[in-house]
Amino acid sequence: MLSLAERTGDLRRYAYRLLRRLKASHRQSEVDTAELRRQRAIALRPVVRGLCGVVGSYYIVIFISHFFYEKGMDLPIMAGLGGVTAITCLSFFRWTRGAESVQRLEIATLIVSLLMYANVVVSQYLHFVPAKLIYFVLMTLVFATSAVSLRVVVPTSLLATGTMFVMAHHAGFPVLKQHIWVGVGGIVTALGMAGIMRSTIFRAVHARLVAEKHRHEAQILAHYDALTGLPNRRSFFTELDVALVGAKNGYAFDLALIDLDGFKPVNDLYGHSIGDALLIEVGKRLRAVVGSRGVVARLGGDEFALILNGQMPDDDLRRFGEDLCDTLRQTYVLGGGVCANISGSVGFVHSDPGAQWSASQMLERADYALYYAKQNLRGAPIIFDRRHENEMQDFGAVDQTLRSSDLESELYIVFQPQIDLKAQRTVSFEALARWQSEKLGPVRPDIFIRAAERSGLISDITLILLRKALVAVRDWPRDMRVSFNLSARDLRSLPAIARICDTVKASGVDPKRIEFEITETAMLSDFDQALEALALLKGMGSRIALDDFGSGYSSFGYIHRLPVDKIKIDRSFVTQLLRHDSTVKIVKTLIDLCGNLSLDHVIEGVETAAELCRLEEIGARYIQGYYFSQPMRAEAITAYLDAESWREGLKKAG
Ligand code: C2E
Ligand code: CA
Ligand code: CA
Repeated sequence: MLSLAERTGDLRRYAYRLLRRLKASHRQSEVDTAELRRQRAIALRPVVRGLCGVVGSYYIVIFISHFFYEKGMDLPIMAGLGGVTAITCLSFFRWTRGAESVQRLEIATLIVSLLMYANVVVSQYLHFVPAKLIYFVLMTLVFATSAVSLRVVVPTSLLATGTMFVMAHHAGFPVLKQHIWVGVGGIVTALGMAGIMRSTIFRAVHARLVAEKHRHEAQILAHYDALTGLPNRRSFFTELDVALVGAKNGYAFDLALIDLDGFKPVNDLYGHSIGDALLIEVGKRLRAVVGSRGVVARLGGDEFALILNGQMPDDDLRRFGEDLCDTLRQTYVLGGGVCANISGSVGFVHSDPGAQWSASQMLERADYALYYAKQNLRGAPIIFDRRHENEMQDFGAVDQTLRSSDLESELYIVFQPQIDLKAQRTVSFEALARWQSEKLGPVRPDIFIRAAERSGLISDITLILLRKALVAVRDWPRDMRVSFNLSARDLRSLPAIARICDTVKASGVDPKRIEFEITETAMLSDFDQALEALALLKGMGSRIALDDFGSGYSSFGYIHRLPVDKIKIDRSFVTQLLRHDSTVKIVKTLIDLCGNLSLDHVIEGVETAAELCRLEEIGARYIQGYYFSQPMRAEAITAYLDAESWREGLKKAG
């Protein structure tokens, strides 16, 4: 099979040049001169062939007539000349069939004209008839209407008219006087007709070419993105359909979706022209990395897609994706001395072995992998695999059910305490969502939250959960705080954050008692937007905790830029705590760093006394985990707190 890149490569390069040219120049009606000459030749061809055919046929008749009218040596001379003219004309009739060169037509008309001229001159030379001098004028008119260019018309017409004058002069002044005005009139008419005819034909040819060029350009623009010159969404889908047909015939391929991280802030900060320049550069870099391996398309906004020929093994594909991400991460030097840094997330999917998937099913899977790449491992490409497939099926069912359920009654909150080891008591509870679905039974929160994030239902769900959590908090002691989880999508939308603030204000709970938990991925996908959202929450007096710290792309490098009050050290550290001394050192460093930055910390997922003991040794203060308590229903909290204060009292008494 011809590679996709080869098939579209030339066209794409042409489109790119075309788009640049269109932008740079307003002379859109300019047409290619070589093509113009070719088209002119094609338009004039029937005229020239008509001349050759008619003159050839005429001289066959003349050739025969010479046998009746000529005698002696005149017969072979005239018949020979007539015969040569007829044969030459008919040969040119053949020779110019399909001719696309003006030169070829010029040669034919020049030689035919000269042969006609020779016949008349020789005939007059052998037996001069003054009345036949008019033939020269007629010839001039024939030359003028049939010749291809003025460089044939002018010399042949002048030659014929000049010869007529010379012969008339030899015949005496009365004959010359008779022919002088006919000759002048003839040549003026001939040249005038030649000019008008040619300019009419050429104008028609030019107009047709311009129209064709515009049609062609419109066609190209319909398939290519005007900014980057890459195939657009429409031609991407065409390519994908072609690739899928190929896959059915055993030509597997890989599909990638690429989404830029951090493009929007650059666009907002520096304006659209810098944003455009950035996208153009991204397009160039993607093309450079992909090369002849496949097709790069821009689907819209900061979304790109690749169709890669052949199927790469997972490791190679992952390496390729990493190269791609590295390339996108290099600093962009844009106009006006602006330097920008962005990154890209990539999701891959292999075409399935039986090639049963449709284009939209392939895209859905690539998009799923992309979602993972964005959520879980920023910057690392993700290849859609069996695990994702199973998960997606589950998500599909969960998503459907979420939409059709009465979430107000099926969702509820459980609370898990966070203990201050120093004060030996619970200081806060994390609110954790639960869904007891009528159709599906209990659904794990990480599953339904992610499904809701994907489908956009999350903002509604967040509000339901927040209202329910705040109802419970109203019954707690006034110094008891609540931690509430926000999803990345909540932070990405200022209206969603505004609704959250309104809900808090309407609840009557002091916003200072609420701590919002956010994850790093939420911050990283659009840092500035997230900062704005956090400013709104902090503006109410609420606190911010950075959740799952250490599980992903954690970096203390940017923590000082975030308005966070607390770091939640991820459970994955606790599970390693007793196995590796290095983990103990890392957790100790994290705790110390939090102290230096005046941030609170909390260690999540502490399950055993041994873990707790180790953490106490290295200075941990706030702890959350099954060791102290599983998440509990709101109704159980009063009893839990009572028991705690009772224990506290016992300790103090002891
Ligand atoms: P998370 O925010 O990291 O929540 C902590 C999770 O760890 C909870 O799981 C909790 O039950 C579990 N956990 C607590 N202590 C221990 C322990 O000692 N051992 C172990 N193995 N696990 C422990 P859960 O409730 O299943 O929640 C899972 C995730 O779902 C949460 O992780 C959070 O990302 C998400 N989630 C839960 N509720 C909400 C919510 O209301 N909104 C949003 N946006 N996400 C939520
Ligand atoms: Ca949390
Ligand atoms: Ca967590």
